[in-house]
Amino acid sequence: MSERLQKVMAHAGVASRRASEQLIQTGHVRVNGQVVTTLGQKVEPTDRIEVDHKPIHQEALVYFLLNKPRGVITSAADEKHRKTVLDYFKHQVAERIYPVGRLDYDTTGALLLTNDGDLDYRLTHPKHEIPKTYVAKVTGIPDATDFDRLRSGVKLDASHQSAPAEVRLVKKAGATGQNAVIEVTIHEGRNHEVKNMFQAIGHPVEKLKRIAFAELKLADLEPGQWRPLNKRELRNLF
Ligand code: URA
Repeated sequence: MSERLQKVMAHAGVASRRASEQLIQTGHVRVNGQVVTTLGQKVEPTDRIEVDHKPIHQEALVYFLLNKPRGVITSAADEKHRKTVLDYFKHQVAERIYPVGRLDYDTTGALLLTNDGDLDYRLTHPKHEIPKTYVAKVTGIPDATDFDRLRSGVKLDASHQSAPAEVRLVKKAGATGQNAVIEVTIHEGRNHEVKNMFQAIGHPVEKLKRIAFAELKLADLEPGQWRPLNKRELRNLF
């Protein structure tokens, strides 16, 4: 996520924010070799910032996988003061991490958090078609035609059609078999995409969990638990 240059400088201990602004305006600061004198400039954690030719220490890039619980907001702050995914990292991670993409308030599962703006851009840009796998408990049991519709793409509203998805029935559920549990992999990330797809075939989602995001598998992380990505996962993401 990009941040204002003076904020990053202050955070790195160069000077107060006000004094950092003065350093910028008086031509002491370079970003990736270019002098910056205006105050609107935003920088990424990967940008090289120098003050009087001395590089400032930007944060190391960090990557975590959280099992987001139900009833938690996927953003840095909430006007209604509800719990956010960042609350799970408070006092444990000093870097300014943020979630990559989002899960609905009532959706659980795999959520990547990082301070790496380049990776965030790559994983969320639609052109990269990053796979995301969900397990959905839906009302009723979709039939073969419904499955075919999900596989080829369903009309979500007047101007949107879902992209082709991989879909399989995991099991029938509920005391009288009135629900289906379905695994679905999508390659795009519109808001409420999975819920809207099942709504469109007349089988609304009752529960939704993301079990994989790109190469990252939730496996046995409990809701509210998180862990750093391991070397293999990082290699696969880049
Ligand atoms: N699709 C949804 O409908 N909700 C989510 O949280 C994620 C994908």
